[in-house]
Amino acid sequence: MTDRYAVIGHPIAHSQSPRIHAAFAQATAQDLSYVAIEAPLDGFAATVQAFRAGGGRGVNVTLPFKLQACQLANDPSEAARLAGAANALKFEGERIVADNFDGIGLVNDIQRNLGHALRGRRVLLLGAGGATRGALLPIAQQGPATLAVANRTADKAHGLRTDFAAHVTLNSGGYADLAGEAFDVVINATSAGLSGEALPLPDGLFAPGALAYDMVYGKGLTPFLRQARAAGVSALADGVGMLVEQAAEAFAWWRGVRPDTRDVIARLSVPLV
Ligand code: NAP
Repeated sequence: MTDRYAVIGHPIAHSQSPRIHAAFAQATAQDLSYVAIEAPLDGFAATVQAFRAGGGRGVNVTLPFKLQACQLANDPSEAARLAGAANALKFEGERIVADNFDGIGLVNDIQRNLGHALRGRRVLLLGAGGATRGALLPIAQQGPATLAVANRTADKAHGLRTDFAAHVTLNSGGYADLAGEAFDVVINATSAGLSGEALPLPDGLFAPGALAYDMVYGKGLTPFLRQARAAGVSALADGVGMLVEQAAEAFAWWRGVRPDTRDVIARLSVPLV
């Protein structure tokens, strides 16, 4: 029998997840269906329960429901608990198990696909929202020399330092605090670029040979990537690999089979021009 999966969000029409999982299922000969479901803003839990009651095996969860997904679970992973958010649920009998694969998807893309090791490097995350929360633990587990978060609202960055203190040694601050600092990997985890806004990044932020990574995908050269290029950075990446790698983690978690990601990333990539 065909096993049923879905991605739930609001809005959801833009989601690439059905395309990604259909490609994974075909490549691994898994008998499954995967659809996009738009839940009403006040109806996430009911939508999950209805999908499960109809024989669903698991779901991905996207904006704005990742926090609720974590709360709905009986059994959230450490990554989901620390992030306070889940992007994947698995139905096991009466139990709902939750995980958050965004961070490991980012790490796998940076290290495996882009060839930038994080161990011993100076890593900076810009933004202190859900995407940064999900990324902190997986990045810290790679053993960077330093890990820093800068955010427009500096108090939110300081809050992350407190929340993650037991697991992650974190430097935190606002953009002005970055003056005089240099980093080997700079990750834009803000949504500033979606409205065309550039971040107030100081000169000298990118160390020689640095990677500039924007989690936003499908937009070509974003304001952040433009800034990085203008600063002399040649290693530029958007978040399409992160998207596909987190999907691969969820697929492996549900199905016990790891799909290859290379072709799917290539198919979804848009040129950074
Ligand atoms: P979020 O929780 O809403 O956080 C947004 C962050 O952006 C906050 O730190 C906010 O700062 C900052 N921000 C927004 N507008 C800004 C501006 N004009 N100037 C400076 N900072 C600004 O969002 P999120 O869930 O963390 O997602 C962040 C981005 O990552 C989104 O663009 C999302 O699409 C992307 N993402 C990609 C993937 C992927 O698979 N590639 C996965 C997850 C997320 P304040 O705290 O000061 O408001």
